[in-house]
Amino acid sequence: MARAVWGYDSDNGPEHWHENYPLAKGDNQSPIEINSKEVQHDSSLSSWHASYDPDAAKTILNNGRTCRVVFDDSFDRSVLRGGPLLDVYRLRQLHLHWGSSDDHGSEHVIDGVKYAAELHSCHFTCRWDVLRFFRILWNMKKKNKYLCFTLQVGKTPKPEIKRILQAIDNIKTKGKEAPFPHFDPSILFPKSRDYWTYHGSFTTPPCEECITWILLREPIEVSPDQMAKLRSLSKNGENEPESPLVDNWRPPQPVKGRMEKASFK
Ligand SMILES: [Zn+2]
Repeated sequence: MARAVWGYDSDNGPEHWHENYPLAKGDNQSPIEINSKEVQHDSSLSSWHASYDPDAAKTILNNGRTCRVVFDDSFDRSVLRGGPLLDVYRLRQLHLHWGSSDDHGSEHVIDGVKYAAELHSCHFTCRWDVLRFFRILWNMKKKNKYLCFTLQVGKTPKPEIKRILQAIDNIKTKGKEAPFPHFDPSILFPKSRDYWTYHGSFTTPPCEECITWILLREPIEVSPDQMAKLRSLSKNGENEPESPLVDNWRPPQPVKGRMEKASFK
């Protein structure tokens, strides 16, 4: 397998990633399965706040592995604060993972339940103080924060997700990118701010272990039609044979003694 061609198929999927990306066999890999009854409540975990500038949204693209919305992160215009965050974190991009049918597709599994999809909202910090060198060392392991939502097929789908789904027709095939102006992702967020948090990794190669995950307890509801629209994306390029972009999720990885904490009882 060449480095550039990792994917989700039987010959280049998650079972093979460690062959070229040894970190994928590390001790702090994501996603994981959350067993909510075993997670300790931590009263020091306060509520998180997102303050997003809709005009930071730039483009939406299909890279053959996911559908991604990219934001301007050149200054603190769309940020995440509070909760387990000691700093201000800038929104860089969000993307989705989904299945080939409604009964699977999420990466994190919660109490044995696989959801139809999972939305990852990626934030990073670039603040350093006078102890810059030590801060870099300290932050190597936690410089990225992923706000993570599960998507569940339900009776009261969130109309706000329409905005992303409408853009899908413009980015059907791999390599397509389209303008995506004026979008505030917080319109997608569920009412409850309750979350689980743990230290883990990117869920795609090279799977670096530098992510604090903030996994929201309440799923975002979507309809079967909305999920079907997401599955209408293709992982092939424009003039190549049709191949649907589905099942772009990594299965849960070993927890290996890591602490998971809950912001709620
Ligand atoms: Zn992801």
